[in-house]
Formats: sequence, C-alpha cells, structure tokens
Amino acid sequence: MSKPTLSKKQRRDQVRRQQADVSDTAQRGLLIAHYGSRAEVEDTQKQRFLCQLRQNLGNLVCGDQLHFQPLAANTGLVVERLPRRNVLLRPDAQGKTKPIAANIDQVIVVLAPQPTINPVLLDSYLVLAESLGIDALIVLNKIDLLSAAERVDCQRFLATYQDLGYAIHTVSVKQQLNLAALTQALAQRVQVVVGQSGVGKSSLINALIPDHDIRVGPLTKTSNKGRHTTTTARYYHGPYGDLIDSPGIRELKLGQMNMQHIAQGFREFQSVVDQCRFRDCKHTQDRDCAIVAALQAGTISAQRYDSFRKICEKL
Ligand code: GDP
Ligand code: ZN
Repeated sequence: MSKPTLSKKQRRDQVRRQQADVSDTAQRGLLIAHYGSRAEVEDTQKQRFLCQLRQNLGNLVCGDQLHFQPLAANTGLVVERLPRRNVLLRPDAQGKTKPIAANIDQVIVVLAPQPTINPVLLDSYLVLAESLGIDALIVLNKIDLLSAAERVDCQRFLATYQDLGYAIHTVSVKQQLNLAALTQALAQRVQVVVGQSGVGKSSLINALIPDHDIRVGPLTKTSNKGRHTTTTARYYHGPYGDLIDSPGIRELKLGQMNMQHIAQGFREFQSVVDQCRFRDCKHTQDRDCAIVAALQAGTISAQRYDSFRKICEKL
C-alpha cells in the first residue's frame, strides 16, 4: 500500500512533532494565564483548558503559542512552546530580566496632563517598542482637563511624535471623547497598555475590555492554585482587540540596554548614528558627531536629544 503523500508543510510539522515528541492529538493553544506549575490555555476554538506543564519548557508567558495535549474535563498538558515573534522582559530585583508577555503587536503609551507628562518616560517606552520591533501608539488622556492654551501646548509637544510617524490619540476616557478612533486602531492586534501611575490606564482598560473586572474565569475558580492574583498577567479578548495586562506590565521600566541600543530606539537617530566619526561616540562633545550635527541642524529635536541623554545617564 502506498503511503499518503504529505505536503511540504505537513512533512515539516511531522518532523517537528517527532523531534519535540508531540503526539498527533496535540493541539495548538494560546497561553491565557500562568499560575506556578499550571497554565490556562485556549485552543483555536476558544475552549479553555487548565494545563500542567511538561518539564524543561522554560519560561512560559501570556501570549505564548504552544502545543498541548488535551486530557479529560478540560485539563491538559503543555508539551511544546512555539517560537516567539517577540517577548516583553521585565528587570527583577537582582537586575536579571524575566519574560512577562510574548507575541505583542502594539504598545499603547498613556499620557495625561495630570500627572504632568514625563517626556523621558514616554521616550523610554518608545525605545522599548522600537527594540521589540513593534508599533507604539500614544494616547493623551484627560483632554477634558485642558484649557485652550494647554491644548495648544500639548499639541505642540505631540507634533514631534506625529512627525516621527507615531499614531497619536487625544481622548477623555471619563467623558468618552474620541474613543471610537482609538478602538479602531486595536482591531486584530494584541496590545499592552503602559504609562505612569494616575494617567488613566485602568480606566482605559476597563473601557476597552468591559469584562476586565470579571477577571476570574470558571476554570480558575475551581482550583486553588489557579486563583487569580492581581500580579498575574492575563490575556484578554476584547470587543475591539486583544490585550495582555498585569500591574507589572502597566508600569514597566526599560531594562538594561547599552547606549547603542538606546540610540537605535530613537527612530530619527537610526539613519544618523552610523555617520558619527567614532564608533564609540558618546554623542555629546565628540568630534564629528552626526547626532549633535543633526540636533544643530534641527532634524533631531532638542527635547528628544535631551531624553536620549537622560536615558543614557541612567545606564
Ligand atoms: P492608572 O493609575 O493609570 O491606572 O489611572 P486610573 O485609571 O486609576 O485613573 C486615575 C484617575 O484619573 C482616576 O481618578 C480616574 O477617574 C481619573 N481619570 C481617568 N480618565 C480620566 C479622564 O479622561 N478625565 C479625567 N478628568 N479624569 C480621568
Ligand atoms: Zn555621535
């Protein structure tokens, strides 16, 4: 009897399964939340399974794509993590980095007139997004608090970012101003929301994911280990787009980076930085520094250059 012929893709999958010792009944899944030795996994039909984890899978995080073996009563065993497009890292107390979310499409940076806009923090979030190779969307919330003059100031500040190609949304979550345009920008994408405390991240997330407060699904309620804690990151399917959220993600800090990486994280520096005379140029007093020349020529803004210096000084 002749063997059925497999397509190239089927053959590739078969080899990968054999190599990873994944049985043919394993299914593709998405990691929704991770609790110690277990994970809540969603299959492609959006059914949830509370899974044990095979050993040596490494760190699994929200947004990870994986293969799991479904077992009785909506339980299962995660057998393999699939390659990640990107991973969000968080520095821990020892300065080591820990992954917290994977396969993100977009970082939403929330600002507000109160607390006052911190340009260095904004730029460090943009560096983070740039280093992950993903889009950043800037949301100025609480526009209901702005006087006409303050509005002009904010617009001037944000124009720099608009010119750099960042999408800007000026909204009021409280008064539901301009939210429709923002929600349209989330469709078919996985996002994280970041920003300093008090800018309105929780308010925005509750508007984007209306059932966000009903965090604990039926699966996790039945298991002690699976109980949701406020520090656990979780993947949400919202009516407008998907979101991975945790307190740690919301107030994420830029991890360890060197000056070169930071310069690459400033979009407008990318094509300039290679033209500095010295490879180890500090972009300050150095002779023939292309960044300083661009600053003097006005193609790099003083505000962005100032942020760059401040982020580098913290290294
Ligand atoms: P978070 O710390 O970034 O999560 O911010 P919260 O969502 O907790 O909001 C901080 C405060 O700002 C709360 O008192 C909110 O009611 C308020 N707030 C949120 N959005 C708006 C807005 O659009 N306008 C005004 N005036 N206040 C807002
Ligand atoms: Zn330089």
